[in-house]
Amino acid sequence: TNSNLTPVMKINQDAADFYHRVLVTTRAGERGMAYAKKRELDKKTIDHFGIGYAPQQENLLLLYLRGKNYQDDDLVKSGLFIQSKSGELYDRFRDRLMFPLSDESGRVIAFSGRRLSNDKTEAKYMNSPETEIFTKSKLLFHFAEAKKAAREEKHLVLYEGYMDVIAAYKAGVKSGIASMGTSLTDEQVYMMRRNNRNIIINYDGDDPGVHAAERAVQMFKQAGGFNIGVVVLPEGLDPDEYVKKYGKDKYHSEVKGALSATDFLLKRLAKKFNLNNDLDRINYLNDAVKEISNISDPVQQDLYLRKIADENKVSFEALKANLLHEVKRNR
Ligand code: ATP
Ligand code: MN
Ligand code: MN
Ligand code: MN
Repeated sequence: TNSNLTPVMKINQDAADFYHRVLVTTRAGERGMAYAKKRELDKKTIDHFGIGYAPQQENLLLLYLRGKNYQDDDLVKSGLFIQSKSGELYDRFRDRLMFPLSDESGRVIAFSGRRLSNDKTEAKYMNSPETEIFTKSKLLFHFAEAKKAAREEKHLVLYEGYMDVIAAYKAGVKSGIASMGTSLTDEQVYMMRRNNRNIIINYDGDDPGVHAAERAVQMFKQAGGFNIGVVVLPEGLDPDEYVKKYGKDKYHSEVKGALSATDFLLKRLAKKFNLNNDLDRINYLNDAVKEISNISDPVQQDLYLRKIADENKVSFEALKANLLHEVKRNR
């Protein structure tokens, strides 16, 4: 079954098996397992995500793969090794918890490794470099599995981090995916649109997370054709931390209570003004109407106009007149 895979594909697959076995079955993997336990990763979760551990000792992966008769030039192309000036190869990942990154059909094409320690001088996550099979901007973590789950859950949920996708999965939200960090790309947006047009954004509840969510909403709106929900978690928590602190059930209610994109944007907008000041409030209403004028569905326009009219004790008719003016101006 492996016959039509290129050597670089096979190497990544074999490396995933190697890291996973090191974590689950070896003495060398005990450090990794202790960390996995600390992160509350149970056996079932470790297996589902194919999580592994890159051992501390030098070049165990290199020895293992050479033992399988791979050629050095293919090993270099796989992205899993660093080549010294004199041409020697070294394992790129050491003493890290390994998350295999798979393509849309579920084949391992790269890795991200998390450091075990709190040592801030080392990168928290280290990724494979781009290779002939791995393009960072086109990767969505857990996408192959999430696509299946999305048929039942009727949406995809977008997270910042691998551990968030995993915590959500454990909590029963199985349609989670993550871009690599907060830098969502257009390619990823289109990959999602080809699969499911209902997207829930659940980035970290801290400032960078909320700003990234605003940017993501704009990207989905720009691409068009999405129904967008946004979950903003309290206390700056990320989804993994939230589930740990408040449990599955509360997390489910957070997802169920996702704000519509417009509600989210209007809420963010309101924060920029002092609504106790009339002049400020007028400026807010002008900007809010501009936001609402971007909505193409008249029913939705009506709903949000009514909402901000009520909230700000102005008449619906006045806002509507304002909106029509806005629409005319943009024509
Ligand atoms: P953890 O829970 O393990 O601390 P996290 O997912 O909460 O990780 P964040 O700091 O919120 O970490 O970052 C979100 C995502 O951004 C990570 O999952 C990872 O994909 C990416 N990321 C974070 N730090 C780095 C880094 N130093 N290099 C590359 N990617 C990173
Ligand atoms: Mn974050
Ligand atoms: Mn986080
Ligand atoms: Mn986290």
